[in-house]
Amino acid sequence: MDRLLFGTAGIPLSTSQPDTVNGIQRVADLELDCMELEFVQKVYLKKPEAELVREVSQSTGILLSAHAPYALNFNARQTSKIRISQSYLFNAAHIAALCGAQSIVFHPAYYMGDSSEKTAQTVVKYIAEVLQKIEDEKIHITLRPEVSGKSSQFGSVTEIADLCTRLTGLAPCVDFAHLHARTGSYNSYTEFASILDEIIKILGNESLNNMHIHLSGIEYSATGEKRHLPLKESDMRYMEALKVLKDYNVSGMVICESPMQEYDALLLKESYYDLP
Ligand SMILES: [Zn+2]
Repeated sequence: MDRLLFGTAGIPLSTSQPDTVNGIQRVADLELDCMELEFVQKVYLKKPEAELVREVSQSTGILLSAHAPYALNFNARQTSKIRISQSYLFNAAHIAALCGAQSIVFHPAYYMGDSSEKTAQTVVKYIAEVLQKIEDEKIHITLRPEVSGKSSQFGSVTEIADLCTRLTGLAPCVDFAHLHARTGSYNSYTEFASILDEIIKILGNESLNNMHIHLSGIEYSATGEKRHLPLKESDMRYMEALKVLKDYNVSGMVICESPMQEYDALLLKESYYDLP
């Protein structure tokens, strides 16, 4: 990718007859660039619908990503829960790839009292099996573990970037709002820049050529994320985040998870292109 694309998490609110195909068309009409399919509750598309989604994505030029179900934990205590996590992630990746999505975002795990390193080792073991199956089935999609919004959830920037070095087929999803909620800080130009510096240090400069970013407002407490907020109702210093993305010449997708999806995605896109 040679530029930064902006889009919504899910079907825009202003879509008449809201379904995925109409949602992608609406994203195109709004002159946004991309959309994330929200499989967060469940993978709601089946194979024939996925093929229609791919067609409209190709005809409109709207690029797609997807978000896997929330209910994953590759560090669960019971093996049955790990197997379910694997099948959810595989199924989400499979359908997302049929839709033509380039990547699938997922939340890898909770610490469950384990150290960061022990959690990482467990997660690597089980994600490797999913990646193997994806390869066996000739599915082409990047799995993107996401920077998490809660302190109980595996997923600092360093943990996510490091995880991506341990397995082929992974790339990071950096959620600026999550990191802000998780830490209470990370809300200034210097801090946003330090996130990218850390990613460059671990994954190299070329990782900035195909980044996946979530950016929205967020409400949080001491334990982290509570809910996403519209940008202008939040304390998120999104202009500074956009400036960093511009200064580092980041390409890829910026997905806005705001409750005012398309309005805030457009706000981000317009603000980004207005930057000096
Ligand atoms: Zn997420």
